[in-house]
Amino acid sequence: MFEGLTGRLGDIFDKLRRRGALTEEDVSAAMREVRVALLEADVALPVVKQFVAQVKERAVGQEVLRSISPGQQVIKIVHDNLVEMLGEGVEINLNAAAPVPILMVGLQGSGKTTSTAKIALRLKTKERKKVLMASLDVRRPAAQEQLKVLGEQVGVATLPIVPGQDPIAIAKRALETGRLEGYDVVMLDTAGRLSIDEELMAEVAAVRDATKPAETLLVADAMTGQDAVTVATNFNDKVGITGIMLTRIDGDARGGAALSMRQITGKPIKLLGTGEKIDELEPFHPDRIAGRILG
Ligand code: GDP
Repeated sequence: MFEGLTGRLGDIFDKLRRRGALTEEDVSAAMREVRVALLEADVALPVVKQFVAQVKERAVGQEVLRSISPGQQVIKIVHDNLVEMLGEGVEINLNAAAPVPILMVGLQGSGKTTSTAKIALRLKTKERKKVLMASLDVRRPAAQEQLKVLGEQVGVATLPIVPGQDPIAIAKRALETGRLEGYDVVMLDTAGRLSIDEELMAEVAAVRDATKPAETLLVADAMTGQDAVTVATNFNDKVGITGIMLTRIDGDARGGAALSMRQITGKPIKLLGTGEKIDELEPFHPDRIAGRILG
């Protein structure tokens, strides 16, 4: 699984096979390779530095186990630390009075609308929840229609489209419909933009204030690497996110964005989007991402 880094560390540790404990010198040499691996995986520099320092502290002085090589031992320490930093998978919080509002935020093209339908389908099939979805995107005329089509595909209700309503009015109508018609969860798919702008943030913050969501999930594209970190920081500062759904994990991204976003925002990655199909959604497994990051 970690052939890339294992191979490189193997060279460094060849000479050390019969020594007792990992010395500072050995570990420093290994950490140079780890640093390169993390940077290649698109982990943000401050996070790389923090990680390397932490692992160094833990590795120096450790007795080399008989059963594995020093290189494998360092890989294990690195891997275990990565898993720890990535955090456990956390379920979507539904602990609120029904209908529980879930706010979906993110840039246009991140996979927000698809992810809204994926989560709705999961809540319906796995948790037996009655879910209502509403698109608050009044700028892209096709957006509300897109969610409706997805809803029909997965058998999840969408709020009837009323032309001319603003996002807050739609959100309030969605919650009111949710209350009157006995829905458990109301998913609100907010409008995205191609880049972060003040108007988008103000609109999302206003919807948040009007709906008091139990979850504000940021949908971020794993393929965008370091940009995803900027997006996460911005949304977290201006809107306050409670978790992250990382999409396009089926692509060839090395997953560094996951570690950076987790570390920099302190918010858990809750779900992974693993493909275009509507059932391609997985709970977050730190192991899987750690393996990818190490390459
Ligand atoms: P939005 O603008 O953020 O609402 O993005 P959409 O939901 O419309 O998704 C944009 C494109 O990304 C669509 O073609 C989706 O099928 C695709 N997409 C969404 N999630 C994933 C994913 O996890 N993996 C892959 N490969 N494609 C995805």
